[in-house]
This record gives sequence, structure tokens and C-alpha cells, in this order.
Amino acid sequence: MSFDSLGLSEPLVRAVHELGYTTPTPIQTQAIPAVLNGGDLLAGAQTGTGKTAGFTLPILQRLNSMPPHASASGKRAVRALILTPTRELAAQVEESVRAYGKYLKLKSTVMFGGVGINPQIGALRSGVDIVVATPGRLLDHMQQKTIDLSHLEILVLDEADRMLDMGFIHDIKRVLAKLPPKRQNLLFSATFSDEIKTLADNLLDSPALIEVARRNTTAETVAQKIHPVDRDKKRELLTHLIKQHNWFQVLVFTRTKHGANRLAEQLTKDGISALAIHGNKSQSARTRALAEFKDGTLQVLVATDIAARGIDIDQLPHVVNFDLPNVPEDYVHRIGRTGRAGATGEAISLVCVDELQLLKDIEKLIKRPVPQEVIAGFEPDPTAKPEPILRRGQGGGGGGRSPRQGQGAPKAGNGGAAKPAQRSGHRPANGQQQPKPQAAKPAGNGGQPRRDGQRQDDRPRAIAHEGSGAQHAPRKPQSGNPGALLGGAKSRNDSPRGGNPARSGQRGR
Ligand code: AMP
Repeated sequence: MSFDSLGLSEPLVRAVHELGYTTPTPIQTQAIPAVLNGGDLLAGAQTGTGKTAGFTLPILQRLNSMPPHASASGKRAVRALILTPTRELAAQVEESVRAYGKYLKLKSTVMFGGVGINPQIGALRSGVDIVVATPGRLLDHMQQKTIDLSHLEILVLDEADRMLDMGFIHDIKRVLAKLPPKRQNLLFSATFSDEIKTLADNLLDSPALIEVARRNTTAETVAQKIHPVDRDKKRELLTHLIKQHNWFQVLVFTRTKHGANRLAEQLTKDGISALAIHGNKSQSARTRALAEFKDGTLQVLVATDIAARGIDIDQLPHVVNFDLPNVPEDYVHRIGRTGRAGATGEAISLVCVDELQLLKDIEKLIKRPVPQEVIAGFEPDPTAKPEPILRRGQGGGGGGRSPRQGQGAPKAGNGGAAKPAQRSGHRPANGQQQPKPQAAKPAGNGGQPRRDGQRQDDRPRAIAHEGSGAQHAPRKPQSGNPGALLGGAKSRNDSPRGGNPARSGQRGR
């Protein structure tokens, strides 16, 4: 895939090539044609995915190909407005607009608070096509009537979730109320809370939907830990941890649907309220489980990867990997359920001797070792031999069925969900019966092909792994002494806890 095959004109392709971009990123591959199409867009992507070029390049192309309007003053009118949560991001985006539009005759400017307003007024007076702004300062200009947005054609809300986190919803609403109704709207957000969905629902008209996976880096605010444990002691250890720490809202991942059901039943027997959520459950059961989980009446939700991916539960305090996922990227997705938008969270993995290779793969992907802590009373047997994962009886016979089909991720909690069309940019003729947002293929490293493990014997079988879309043979168990890697690790209090990214940077005024 190249930039010119996406329909971008030569001056834009030349500019990105000069910046050293040879191949479009996944978000660019999907967003550029969708935006060129002229329709609205709802995109799930975070910083670092190349989203800025994803919307800037097609905006530049569209503006360049459409005849400019003149404002009342006879100068060029503002035709595109990009709102960002922070001053830094506004400056960075406008720099990108300039860099990508280097060979075009379009003009841009950036405006945010904390600096004098007069140079911004001067820039606006001289006529600009594209304004990048933080909401507060933009409102100042609107109130002072120093900006004319009556010719606006394209609006971008960049990092919309951060804007809402930072309390800009009212400012955004006030801005939206003053914009001409007929325009193209693009909304980019790393997460999809109900608030974002409501905003998208009100703002977007049959949007194309794009979602790229979170990067394969784990959020700084998630404290990750491994508890080495024997395979037969996992459930007991989980019960112990939940009871000892009085954890609530614990999202537990199992590898299979059968495993999820069984674990939920066992936890319930242990006196912990738990329900399983997966593709075989009815919609009403999934909705109920999710509602109870969200309002705190259900202590534990046990989920498979594909089920959890489609549900909107963010900022959970605890995510537990009861089984490590077969696909390392799923680990990143799983723990991305906690510590979102700057909230701190804890991701615990219960790892037995059979899963050493899976652990290695995960650590390779996230480029760091995960701290290990052995819980007293649950020390793993250092002489235990690894077994193929399926012998634990958790497999469910993949049977060649494509798990992505027909299982439909749960659609709970979608009170105000946007109604996006397919991510290809296809727009249904009427605004009804559109599919719910659905995750597209993982982007970046997340787009790597899934790897099958090694067969241990010649019995035909596969690890039932929801969402893999492939049959997985059992992984080859690790040889060697498991205790050397897993056992005896001390709790290291070095969990990475960073600052709050949502709060970092200047407030957008
Ligand atoms: P963003 O997610 O828009 O903040 O972009 C993250 C970084 O990726 C920026 O430094 C961009 O310059 C860079 N970038 C964007 N698109 C590409 C591409 N297609 N190839 C290489 N680098 C890119």
C-alpha cells in the first residue's frame, strides 16, 4: 500500500515522502479514503498511530480541490476546524498541517490560550483555510467575533475523549451550536465511553467507523504483575486475592468460553458474585451481566477476549488474566481495559508452568519483563512439568468455525451509541439498522498474523480461542525448570505508574 494508491494527489505524496513516510499506517489506510469520500467518520485511534496524517492529508486534498469561499471581508474563509484538548497537541497538529500541505497554497493557523490573542486575530484577519484550536480560546474568538466560521466545511474533534475528560463538553457544545449545519465531521477518540458515544451520536451522520488497536505498549498507568502458581491452584488463588483485597469490578479473562463458564460457577460457589460473558450467551444475558458489573452489584465478570473487546467497560480497577492469551497482542488489549485515560489500574496474570512461552512472547511484545510475585501458600511446585495447554480440559474444539462470524460482540451499554456504517466508508442509504461499532483488524504491530503453536501430538484438535479466526494447535510446553523463571520471584515494587496523560499538557484554553 502506498500513499498515492489511497487517492492522494502528488503534492501531498511528495510532502509525506520527504518526511520519510513510505507506507501509510493502518489508520491512514482506512481514514484517508473515508475522509476523501466526504462522509462523517468515527475513528478509534490514539496518539502514535499516525492519526494526524490520517485526517490532515485528506482534508488538505479536499480543501485544495474545492474552490475557496471568500469571507465577508473578501479574505479566504475558514473551511476546516480542528479542535484538540491541549495546547501542545494543537501546536503539533498545526505543524503537521503545514508540513503535509507544504506544496499546496492553503493557509493554516493555531490558536490556544495562555498567549496573546492579538497575533491570532491578525492571522485570522489575513485569511486562513484551516484553524487548529483548543476549545476555550476558540470560544473567546467566537465571542469576540474575531473568527467567522460561517463557511466551515470540515470539523475534526481530535482526542475527543481527552477533551471530555478535561471538562470541555460544554465548550464543545457551544462551539457546535454556532457552526453551519452542513459539514463533514470527523471524531477521533482512543476510547468510547457512553459520553463519547452520545457526542458521536449527536454529531455524526451515518459515520464510517474505523478502529485500530491500541499500540503494543502497555499503558504506563497500569501496574502489571504476575503471580506464578500451579495450574490447579489458579481458581483458589483468584478467590484468595479477591477476598483478601476485597476487589470489586474485577474483569477476568479466560482463554475459552467453557473456561469462562466454569470459572464463574466456581467463583459463585466460593461466595463471590460472578457471571461469564461470551459469544454463546444470549444478548439479554450479556446485557444483564454487563449492567450488573457496571453498577457494582456483580463483583466479577469472566470474559473471553472477543466478548470483552466489544463491550465498553473502561477504567476498571482490576483486570485478571486467569489464562494468558494465546496471542500476545491480546494481552495488550486485555490490560488496556484498566488504567485508561490516566486512571490507575492493576493487571494481574496467573501464570502456570504451561504458559512460560506465552509469557515470553508477551514480554517480547511489550518490551519489558512483567514483575513477578509469589503469593504465600500458592508457591508453584518447582518440579512441575509443563503440559500442553489443552490437557487441562479447557479447550473447546475450534472445529474450524470462524469465531468472529456470527458471534457478534456484545452490544451492551450502548444507550447513546453512534450508528457507524462499515469502516470501509460504505454509507447505508438510510440511517437505520446500521451495525454497531466493531473492531477492525488490529493495527500496527497488532496487525501481525496470529501464530499457531506447535502440535504436541497428532490428535486433531485446536485451542478454542474466540476471536482468533484460526485454529490454534496447543503450544509446545516449555522445557527446563519452570521454577527458575517463575518461582521464587519476589514482589518488586517497581510497577510502572506514570503521570496522568489526560492531565498532562496545558489545559486547552
Ligand atoms: P500521530 O499518531 O499522528 O501523533 O503520529 C505519530 C508519529 O508518526 C508522528 O511523529 C508522525 O510524524 C509519524 N507518522 C505518521 N504517519 C507515518 C507514516 N505513514 N510513516 C511513518 N511515520 C509516520
